[in-house]
Amino acid sequence: MIYGFFGSIPGCPHQRGSHALRGNGKTLCLTFVGYLDYLSGRDVISNYKTSFSEFVSTERIAEMVIYEDIRDTTILLSELQLYMNSLGVNTKELRSFVGSVIGQSRKRNTDIHYDTQRYTDVHPRIRVQTDRAFLPRKFHADGKPCQLDRCDKPHFIYLYQHDPYMEHPIVKLRADNFGALYDTNEIVALIKD
Ligand SMILES: [Zn+2]
Repeated sequence: MIYGFFGSIPGCPHQRGSHALRGNGKTLCLTFVGYLDYLSGRDVISNYKTSFSEFVSTERIAEMVIYEDIRDTTILLSELQLYMNSLGVNTKELRSFVGSVIGQSRKRNTDIHYDTQRYTDVHPRIRVQTDRAFLPRKFHADGKPCQLDRCDKPHFIYLYQHDPYMEHPIVKLRADNFGALYDTNEIVALIKD
């Protein structure tokens, strides 16, 4: 399976209303689904540090995806567009990576989950093959959307499913319950060639 978590999805009904542009909880939700897999006994690797997964660089994960026979593993890729942009537009490397992501996710009980800022950031072939596309949104305890990029109030992340479309959030997460699972300040480094 491939799950995608997006910062924005233009035209999606869940996008309506004024919300903070950054920090909508996409990486928190990515981490949450990875954590559920970890709790069910699966191996989880990620290109950012969490308390439950094996940290592996994006470049190394790409090698594994392309050349290795991955089994029974959940892969979390944050800011996927940074890596894909580093491969260039329509290069052999990009096509090889895209084809391998799709191939691995279709067999051997391997799941690949990613987050990225914009829906259109992701290569069309991966977007088409994404089994579930999610749009998290950030709310306060009173049910009002958080409209600030920096805000100290407690937050609840409503995880909306854009595709296949579901009207109501599939889960509501209390953000500070998951803060200990990963470092929200960590920046996923761009690959240098
Ligand atoms: Zn807020």
